[in-house]
Amino acid sequence: MRWGLAGASTIAAEHMIPAFRAHGDEIAWVASGNPDRARRYAAEHGIGRGYGALDEALAAGGVDALYISSTNEKHAPQALAAIAAGVHVLCEKPLSISVDEAAGMVAAAERAGLVFATNHHLRCAGSHRAIRELIASGAVGRVLSLRVHHAVYLPPHLQGWRINDAGAGGGVIPDITVHDADTVRFLLGEDPVAVVALDGTSGLGEGVEDSVMSVWAMPSGAMVTAHESFTHPFAGSGLEVHGTAGSIFARGVMTQRPVGEIELVTAEGRRPVSFSGHNLYVEGVRMFREAVAGQGQPAASGADGIKSLTVALAVRAAARSGQRVSVEYGA
Ligand code: NDP
Repeated sequence: MRWGLAGASTIAAEHMIPAFRAHGDEIAWVASGNPDRARRYAAEHGIGRGYGALDEALAAGGVDALYISSTNEKHAPQALAAIAAGVHVLCEKPLSISVDEAAGMVAAAERAGLVFATNHHLRCAGSHRAIRELIASGAVGRVLSLRVHHAVYLPPHLQGWRINDAGAGGGVIPDITVHDADTVRFLLGEDPVAVVALDGTSGLGEGVEDSVMSVWAMPSGAMVTAHESFTHPFAGSGLEVHGTAGSIFARGVMTQRPVGEIELVTAEGRRPVSFSGHNLYVEGVRMFREAVAGQGQPAASGADGIKSLTVALAVRAAARSGQRVSVEYGA
């Protein structure tokens, strides 16, 4: 496939460009908001051309799909421009800074008959697939609760708009809670219906939250607690699922790499659970390519991206209001 990139970003450089190339795909161009930066980024990463405007790049054509990894407020206009040009879209999370905009992007792709996917990489992890299979097989019985611990330290090179620019979609809630919402939905196969939350700043955030703790009610009656932060250097990440017949303890799995450990504890004792160590982003691109070829669905669809954003924004509304907030997914 031939890809265009919207956003001369870190995630593209560190993970997605190698993931596209792992499939033998071509990266035809990168579009940035700054022509010099676009040219520099293209040269550094061996990309055919760098454009200072996405419209110019789309007019030049030569791509089957656009990967969007700009700051969050640009995702919607860039996706709509790509769809208007007849190009499939793989968009970074959060899909947008508003649910209405996200829904508009997904609806436009559907009308145009184009594939639209959200880059929720954790669904592609061998660890999360193994946990999901354990739950679905009844290994823990009825799920009573799930805890997700995703309090990390934001590396210095990413301490830009994420920690101080609400207009660009900064804050830990659109950055990390959105991933946890998708992961919980993926693991449990149900969508949160109500949330309560507290947020705050604990050293990095200026004008946006850098930490949040929330509790989610699930339709089955299961309860979820989630903790996301940019300021925890040594906490590590993890996830626990507790059911009537067993518990799953997963350590180090809320990450971009295929790492971590999973243990299942039941009346029969404790046993380690093995999982595939494939690259998460390469797998996400594989599924996207198959969807474009008409042979399957992307790992996370546009609808998944709308739902994860809806949960994250409900968490933010709950934190700001101090009230329990119902999660309304729309039609
Ligand atoms: P970056 O800050 O690296 O890039 C975002 C934009 O900032 C770029 O598109 C670029 O704008 C501008 N920019 C970046 N570096 C510079 C620089 N040195 N000088 C000037 N401008 C610069 O963001 P990330 O790569 O961390 O995140 C991009 C998107 O990807 C976000 O939506 C984020 O939520 C998502 N993401 C997803 C991950 C996942 O695992 N699914 C992981 C990390 C991020 P321009 O293109 O106009 O030049």
